[in-house]
Amino acid sequence: MILPKSNRLTSEQLNEVTAIVAEFGCKIQPIVGAVRTIYAIVGDERDELMINRLEGLDYVERIDRIQSPFKLMDKRSDLASHRITINGVTLGEELFVIAGNCTIDPKNPNYFYETAQAVKEAGATMIRGGVWKPRTNPYSFQGDVKSLDILLEGSRRTGLPVDTEVMEEAHIKLALDAGVTCLQIGARNALNYSLLRAIGRAVAEREVVVLLKRSIHMGPISEFISAGEYIAAFGNPNIILCPRGTSPTLDGYRNHPDESITPLLKEKTWAPVVVDPSHSVGKAVYVQAAALAAIAYGADGLCLEAHVSPSHGIGDDPKQALTPEVLAETIAQAKALWAIRRGVKVG
Ligand code: PEP
Ligand code: MN
Repeated sequence: MILPKSNRLTSEQLNEVTAIVAEFGCKIQPIVGAVRTIYAIVGDERDELMINRLEGLDYVERIDRIQSPFKLMDKRSDLASHRITINGVTLGEELFVIAGNCTIDPKNPNYFYETAQAVKEAGATMIRGGVWKPRTNPYSFQGDVKSLDILLEGSRRTGLPVDTEVMEEAHIKLALDAGVTCLQIGARNALNYSLLRAIGRAVAEREVVVLLKRSIHMGPISEFISAGEYIAAFGNPNIILCPRGTSPTLDGYRNHPDESITPLLKEKTWAPVVVDPSHSVGKAVYVQAAALAAIAYGADGLCLEAHVSPSHGIGDDPKQALTPEVLAETIAQAKALWAIRRGVKVG
């Protein structure tokens, strides 16, 4: 990581450092912050000669070398001061909540519009709605691109930004062109390194956020953070890590709840953690307790499935979605617990 003396390198300076690192098989990836741009050295940055030559340049303040498989996502990285702000909520400073339908029903868009309104009234920051769906059964409803218009109409009606899952490069382009604020990489694709690279490349120059779910099959904490590094390596550090339960399941729950990994993630990475208890426990009746447990464990936010009439929902909604009343109560309780966790007096 190259930290320049000024807020950013001039194009001549950038060309010079790019030429130096290229001799050692590395590339430069600028990471543009609000005030300052820092320059990641992508590749093996262990060569002393390369570092000495860079340190010798009079416009370079210092070179930070982090020996970590995820040097950008690492807590010791200069990106540690990076903050993600969505619709006025800065993650880490205020409870952040995404809520909405698992799957938008393109034949009955009013369920989504009414849910979006209820999500707003419940105090969430962003609305979720599945347009394209990864389904275990190939004959189940796979989503419909028409739902993208419904998603954005829900955003216009409420004034809230939206999140949706993308499963292939074509989805990434469609979602970005439509104005989706948060692209979700689902549990099934969190180990799809070519998709992670594609999304990193696509979001590099944009003010958008990636919500990266934890794969059902991920074990070590570093495996999850390294998946985020694939995206960050292209220059957009707006990455949120989302534990959502793993396999094998805990008998009775849909997955093995993993909200307890939040403190372990936070020891290693600066990235915010937004827990999804809906997919973790898989049944609406267990979601509230799991959501509060996630906040107690230090999560920065929650991703919750909700529906105005869960039994009329499609996808996971009939089983997992919270009603507007339970959603509002869950968010209120999570906010109270958040305040307790931060040592703020309540009541
Ligand atoms: C979802 O968010 O509806 C979803 C399919 O999630 P996951 O990838 O965590 O299974
Ligand atoms: Mn779902």
